[in-house]
Amino acid sequence: MPTPFTHDVIIIGQGLAGTVLSETLVQRGKRVVVFDTPLPGRASQVAAGLVNPISLRRTVLTWRASEMLAIAGAFYRDLGLQYDTVFWHPTPLAVLFPTAQEAGIWQLRMKDPEMMRLLRLDTSADPALDQLPQPYGRGIIDRCAWVDVSALLARHRAQAIAAGELEERRIEASDIHQLPDGIQIHGRTAPLLVHCGGPFATADGLVQVKGEGLTVRIPDLHLSKAVHRGVFMLPIGNDVYRVGSTFAWNDVWSGPTEEARRYLLDRLERLVEREVEVLDHWCGVRPASKDRRPILGRIGKHEVIFNGLGSRGVVLAPWCAQHLCDHLFDGVQLDEAVKPDRFTS
Ligand SMILES: Cc1cc2nc3c(=O)[nH]c(=O)nc-3n(C[C@H](O)[C@H](O)[C@H](O)COP(=O)(O)OP(=O)(O)OC[C@H]3O[C@@H](n4cnc5c(N)ncnc54)[C@H](O)[C@@H]3O)c2cc1C
Repeated sequence: MPTPFTHDVIIIGQGLAGTVLSETLVQRGKRVVVFDTPLPGRASQVAAGLVNPISLRRTVLTWRASEMLAIAGAFYRDLGLQYDTVFWHPTPLAVLFPTAQEAGIWQLRMKDPEMMRLLRLDTSADPALDQLPQPYGRGIIDRCAWVDVSALLARHRAQAIAAGELEERRIEASDIHQLPDGIQIHGRTAPLLVHCGGPFATADGLVQVKGEGLTVRIPDLHLSKAVHRGVFMLPIGNDVYRVGSTFAWNDVWSGPTEEARRYLLDRLERLVEREVEVLDHWCGVRPASKDRRPILGRIGKHEVIFNGLGSRGVVLAPWCAQHLCDHLFDGVQLDEAVKPDRFTS
């Protein structure tokens, strides 16, 4: 006799992955229940929320940049309408070239038709930007944005708890019971369980990368664009900026460090050439993957993984959720680049 399921999908984890997936499933008419406990070091709580389609290390487009950007923009705008707020804030990013060589690479890249739509050199007067040191000039990436991830997660969580769709508890392996046709966890049953445990999961190819950042007040700087010069500065209003982030692969659960704080402040003070007031020092662990692609798809008959969002979770999550649903419910082939078994086969 088939199990009379209470839900269509059970999710473990309400970070960005679990939240975006759960919203996507509900939009498709699925009954969803989420189990989550806020563990220290979770990534989404501290994500700066910056969306940037260009990898600044090499000035190249990120993976499927244009498609991801279009899907993410539509997703977060719609979600804002649903919650009667704004989550998606278009914010151009000014890149201050550190060397003449970097400026030259930028000019070269602008000859590529796809890059041309995203990058430009900026010689216009901008009193706020002009006060920052930039002997080699600056470029602008217009189609950047930032998403207030912690606000989005808080709104989703409050609504899901009120609707009985989110239970606050930590799930251990012993809580997961296999049924002949699905999964049972604490009285909830479904034909599918999706693991969205972020950096706390153990999965082939998953790599934990620690990140730290600061929230600072800098009176009278009046930047309206985000700025990148070694570190990024993201204006979030009222003279307040988010500054980050560091990357560390060792000792990832050790919490905020004095070393990272000093590194970020040193970079920042050289950039703005004035005193800054530190309001907050944040730290979390990114769930990255060995090949920098998400980890998505079935890992058992009734179990699925949605992880590996790395340092670009905001722009990746809506595409991943959409692609995973297309695969699970409409039979669409999973993109080879995201398959969870790619690290073992
Ligand atoms: C310092 C920093 C800055 C960042 N800046 C940006 C940025 O500017 N732009 C960007 O796109 N990305 C950024 N990121 C990356 C982004 O935060 C991640 O890609 C994304 O948040 C990952 O989401 P997740 O849901 O996979 O993991 P998490 O956010 O860690 O969520 C996992 C959730 O599952 C819960 N959980 C885990 N196991 C269990 C269990 N057994 N039972 C119950 N609950 C469980 C955890 O408590 C947590 O709530 C940044 C990350 C860091 C650390």
